[in-house]
Amino acid sequence: MIPKIKLDECTGCEDCLESCPPEVISMVNGKAKIEEALCEECGACVDECPEGAIYLP
Ligand code: SF4
Ligand code: SF4
Repeated sequence: MIPKIKLDECTGCEDCLESCPPEVISMVNGKAKIEEALCEECGACVDECPEGAIYLP
């Protein structure tokens, strides 16, 4: 599954950017955004977020 991001819980720390092997997470207006078409569904970003803002739907 492609993870989702709870924007109201994202603090913009950018930790998830480096956790993503194909580097498909970027910052948009201070919040993380996954380029869903390029996500490899590895789940690494879900475990990385210290805020629990990335989840599997
Ligand atoms: S699931 Fe994996 S490939 Fe997809 S955004 Fe998260 S870290 Fe990147
Ligand atoms: S790791 Fe979590 S809090 Fe930090 S930028 Fe990514 S989604 Fe936002």
